[in-house]
Amino acid sequence: MIPSLEPEKVTTRLLYYEDAYIKQFEAKITEVICMNNSVGLVLDQTAFYPVGGGQPADKGVVKGENWKANVVDVQWRDGNPLHIVGDVEGEIKENDDVVGVLDWERRSALMRNHTAAHLISEAIRQAVGNPIAIVGSAVNVDKSRLDLAYEGSLRELFPKIETIANKIVKENRPILMSIMSRDEAEEYVNRFHESLKTLPAAVQKVRIVEIEGWHACACGGTHVKRTGELGAIRVLGRAAKGKGVERIEFVAQSP
Ligand SMILES: [Zn+2]
Repeated sequence: MIPSLEPEKVTTRLLYYEDAYIKQFEAKITEVICMNNSVGLVLDQTAFYPVGGGQPADKGVVKGENWKANVVDVQWRDGNPLHIVGDVEGEIKENDDVVGVLDWERRSALMRNHTAAHLISEAIRQAVGNPIAIVGSAVNVDKSRLDLAYEGSLRELFPKIETIANKIVKENRPILMSIMSRDEAEEYVNRFHESLKTLPAAVQKVRIVEIEGWHACACGGTHVKRTGELGAIRVLGRAAKGKGVERIEFVAQSP
């Protein structure tokens, strides 16, 4: 659904892939980049998720021995996450040891709404009875949206979509992550009415996110461990976004 994957030339260890629940971590600065009004930091490892795949970047703070700064954005640059920091108090230097602390309230809301996007996409498919291509997605703290290749309005199906999605929340299914070869992944997601069509041809190692036994697709974002960590999922509304594109907004409420 959200085909953003670990880039091939990444040298930063991506802790959020190993454990999406890391709230604080230690690291070393490998590069300090001076930018117009801010400073960019590359770390040897990070739990900060860089913007990508429809999921916004994490925020938080980084602290050295004699300095402190706010992480205001994280972007991919030359294959690695670049932490853009502001409000710097003190002098930041290469090779400094740092402690990074995520704004956990923000990240956990993003993880819930991102995971809800997986549930909603499959619930829509089941409610409609046919596979529907997702042409866009945006996860946020207070709500998320999916843009679907669909003629007409899905409004009548909202109650059905919510019922299907919330049944899976109640079942508290595990959410599983695995990396596989592209061929293997294609075959795997086909079983769940998904494909890797939108994935660039160069991507040969694919990260699969599966709501156990119910839905699987390629995704590079952060997710909760079990569907029961989501509160009730509510469909908030719809809009027609041009010919043949239906936008659905939804939120996973706090459990
Ligand atoms: Zn995902």
